[in-house]
Amino acid sequence: MMQFRDLHRQYEALKPAIDNALLQAVASSAYIMGPQVAALEHQLADYVGVKHCISCANGTDALSLALMAWGLGPGDAVFVPDFTFFASAEVVAHQGATPVFVDVDMVTYNISVADLEAKFASLPSHLKPRAIVAVDLFGLPADFPALRQFAQQHGLLILEDAAQGFGGSIGNQRACSFGDIATTSFFPAKPLGCYGDGGAVFTDNDEWADLIRSYRVHGKGADKYDNVRIGLNSRLDTLQAAILQVKLKAFEDYELDAVNHVASLYDSHLAGKITTPQIPSGHLSSWAQYTVQLPNRDAVKQVLQSEGIPSVVYYPKPMSAQTAFASVAELQSPCPNAAKLSSTVLSLPMHPYMNPDEIVFVAQKLLAAI
Ligand SMILES: *Cc1c(COP(=O)(O)O)cnc(C)c1O
Repeated sequence: MMQFRDLHRQYEALKPAIDNALLQAVASSAYIMGPQVAALEHQLADYVGVKHCISCANGTDALSLALMAWGLGPGDAVFVPDFTFFASAEVVAHQGATPVFVDVDMVTYNISVADLEAKFASLPSHLKPRAIVAVDLFGLPADFPALRQFAQQHGLLILEDAAQGFGGSIGNQRACSFGDIATTSFFPAKPLGCYGDGGAVFTDNDEWADLIRSYRVHGKGADKYDNVRIGLNSRLDTLQAAILQVKLKAFEDYELDAVNHVASLYDSHLAGKITTPQIPSGHLSSWAQYTVQLPNRDAVKQVLQSEGIPSVVYYPKPMSAQTAFASVAELQSPCPNAAKLSSTVLSLPMHPYMNPDEIVFVAQKLLAAI
C-alpha cells in the first residue's frame, strides 16, 4: 500500500550518511548536547537567515519557550488561527494567557488579517492584546507583510509557528525568519523531520535568545546547578541532531525542489477540476501537506482507502470546537471559514520521494471518486 509520507524511502536514499552519523554519535557517548547540536543550530540559523537558533525537545516546547521569553501569562490575549494543530493554541492556554481564535482565509488556509482586525476590535477590556501566533499552515508562509503592518500599528509581537513551514519563503526571505520569534518542529512527518521528537526556536533578538537558552535547561544561570528562573528540560538529543544534519543537506540539495515538483504534477492533473491549493505569487510552500477541498470529502476518502490510497483530514475540528477550549470559545465570536474547512479538507499523499506514476494514480482515482 502507498504511504502517506514515505519516510522509509527517504531513509533508503540517505542510508549510508545517516547510518554513519548515528554510529559516530553513539560511539562518541556525548548523548546530551554533543557537538552535533551546536553545529546543527548554526546550520539552521544560516539556512533561515536569523542570528540565533536554539534547538529543543519538540515543536510544542519551542512555542512555549517563546511565550516564556516574552513573559506572557494571565490577562494577556494571544490571537491564534482557529484552523491549525492544537499545539498552536494549547501553549497559550498552558502559560495562563487567553487564546483568541481568529478565522482563516479560504484560499491560503492561513490566519485572516481582516478577521484579526475584527477580533482585535472586539476584544473584551479585561484582556491585554500582546501577540499573534501566525501558523505557516501546510507549508505556506502566512501573510507576513500584512501581519507585520498590523502588529506594528498595535504593538503586538508575532510568533511564527513554522512547524509545517520550514523551507517555505516569501520573495528571498525564508520561513522561520518572519516572526519576532519563530519556531519549528522536527516531528518525523514535518518537512524537515528527525527520527523522534525535536524542535527549534529562531530569533534575531539577543536578549530573548539568552532567556530561551536558560529556560531550555531548568532556567539555568551561570551553569545548570545555578537556577535563576523556573524552566523546562527541553533539549534536542545529539542523535537527532546528527540525523538532522544529514537530512538538512538533502532538504537543501533536492528535497524541497522535489516536493514542489510533486505539487505541480498534482496541480496539472487536478487544477480546475477540484479546489486545489493556491500559492500566492512570490510565495514558496514547503508542502507539509497537499490539501484539497471536496464537498463529499468523507465518501471520497473511503473510496481512496479502498484503492490503497491513504489520505488524512487536517483538521477535523477547529480550535474553537475542541472540548478543551469550550469555556474559552463560548465567549468568542465564530470563525465560519475554519468550520467549513474542517468538513471539506482532505490531504493527499505527499513527500519528495513520490514518483510520477503514483501521483497520476492518486489524481485519477480521486477524480473518479468525486
Ligand atoms: C506539529 C505541529 C506543532 C507541534 O510540534 P511537535 O514537535 O509535535 O510538538 C505545532 N504547531 C503546528 C502547526 C504543528 O503542525
